This record gives sequence, C-alpha cells and structure tokens, in this order.
Amino acid sequence: MVKRQDTASLLNGYLKELLLSAMRERYAELAVQARQESLSYEQYLLELAEQECINRHNSRIERNLKLSKIARNKNMETFDLQRVPVTVVQQVRSLVDGSFVDHKENILAFGNPGSGKTHLLCAIGQELIRKGRKVYFTPCSLLVQELLRAKKDLELSRILKKLSVYDVLIIDDIGYVQQDRSEMEVLFTLLADRYERGSIMITSNLPFSKWEQIFKDPMVTAAAIDRLVHHSVILELNISSYRMETAKNKRTQQPDSSSNQHKGGN
Ligand code: ADP
Ligand code: MG
Repeated sequence: MVKRQDTASLLNGYLKELLLSAMRERYAELAVQARQESLSYEQYLLELAEQECINRHNSRIERNLKLSKIARNKNMETFDLQRVPVTVVQQVRSLVDGSFVDHKENILAFGNPGSGKTHLLCAIGQELIRKGRKVYFTPCSLLVQELLRAKKDLELSRILKKLSVYDVLIIDDIGYVQQDRSEMEVLFTLLADRYERGSIMITSNLPFSKWEQIFKDPMVTAAAIDRLVHHSVILELNISSYRMETAKNKRTQQPDSSSNQHKGGN
C-alpha cells in the first residue's frame, strides 16, 4: 500500500503527464467535498471529469478568440441593437445560432461609415466562436497586402489553405481603400477559393452598384458579386453614424460654452 503523501505526489505526477490540469488542481478539494456529501466513487470521478471538460472548452474558446484578432470590446453586450432597423435585429438573432456557417453562407453588411457594421460583425463573430467555430477578422487592405506578398513568393495557395481552416473570414471595409488591378485579382482569387467552402462576412460602405470601383473590370465585378450573394444574408444598416450621434449628444449635454466664457473658469 502506498503512503498517503506518496499517493498525492504520484497522482500529481500522473495527472500532469496526462495533461489533466483541471483534475490535478481540483481533485483534493473535491475529495473533501465528496466525503462530506458521501458521494460514490463514480460521482466523484464524474465531477472531476466534468471540471476537466469545462476547463478545456473554455481554454479552446479563449484561444480561438485570441486567434480571431477580433477586438474584444466589440461584442453583443456593448452593441446597442435598438439603434439598428428591426429587420437587422431579427436577422442577427437568427445568424448567431451559426447555421449559416454550416451552409457556407455569407453575410454582407452595408451602411454609412460609423453605422456599426464592423462592431456588429465582430459581435456576431464572437458569438460564433463561443459556439465552437473558428473565425478570423482582417481589414481588407491588410488581407490584400498579405495575399499579394504571398503571390509574389509563390505561396498564394499555402495562404489560402491557412485561411481555409477558419469557418468564417471577416473582411472589413472592402473597397474602402482604392486598390489596383493586381490587388483586386488576389482578392477575387480568395473569394473564388472560399465559394461554397467557407463563410465570408464583409463590411462595405459601397453598394454593389459601385463595386466596379473595387474590382475594376465589369466581368470580374459581376463574378465577385455573383459568388458572394449566391448564398448570402444582407444586413442593411441605413442609419446615421454612431460616432457622430454620440459626439452630438455630448455637445448638447455640455453647458453652453459661450455663457461660461465670462465666468472665469479654468
Ligand atoms: P462602421 O464599421 O459602420 O464604420 P463601426 O462599427 O466602426 O462603424 O462603429 C463606429 C463606432 O461606433 C465604434 O466605436 C462602435 O463600437 C460604435 N458603435 C456603432 N454602432 C453601435 C451600436 N449600435 N452600439 C454600440 N456602439 C456602436
Ligand atoms: Mg468599419
């Protein structure tokens, strides 16, 4: 029979070797509880196994949130749904269940600058990660630069493969920066590569009618739009800028500065 202190150190060693960190941290404390509550051996083991699973699930989500490059503060809790049209609220409610990802559908968010497109897609992205999906956020301009560099180094297919591990790719601000033909070609290659293979979420200030500015060539523009919209949900955020509105509200809440000028404030 092994001595009591040997049991603890052996158990610690085995659990460490088996990478069961939550079990290692909790087994002693839960054993005390199990004795008090007269739990069976099986119930105690169940409790420990559950802790390990919860721990692993949480660290996986934490890891995927970090990998996604989504800004943490752009989540559903900080997004005021009352600012967006009712139809968008309904669309968002059904999108966060994630079935659009299974169907490889795309989400396209249109609206003026400041209407909340980026924040909303990031928030949806975070919800999807919490449901176990892999998401990657990138500004369009950065993505295009990365693709171009890869193409120059004959590594385009490697990068496309790397991106294909993500269930959802968020491309922020397509068409915001004027890009040349070679830049648009690589972007088109990516869209074609993911077509019906993985979801894309895009934000844009430009309506489709102006997408020729992005893809330059009318045929390429039509082909890009066609692939994106074939299986897609369009979120129309035709609302005023949140930034502008909060700035205006702040101004109206501040006391009239002209009447303060003569009061000798510091
Ligand atoms: P867009 O991508 O449409 O230009 P953003 O998503 O960047 O707009 O929003 C601009 C700023 O306003 C961000 O700081 C964002 O967090 C905030 N914002 C926009 N809409 C909302 C909203 N409905 N609730 C809370 N914050 C919002
Ligand atoms: Mg934006």
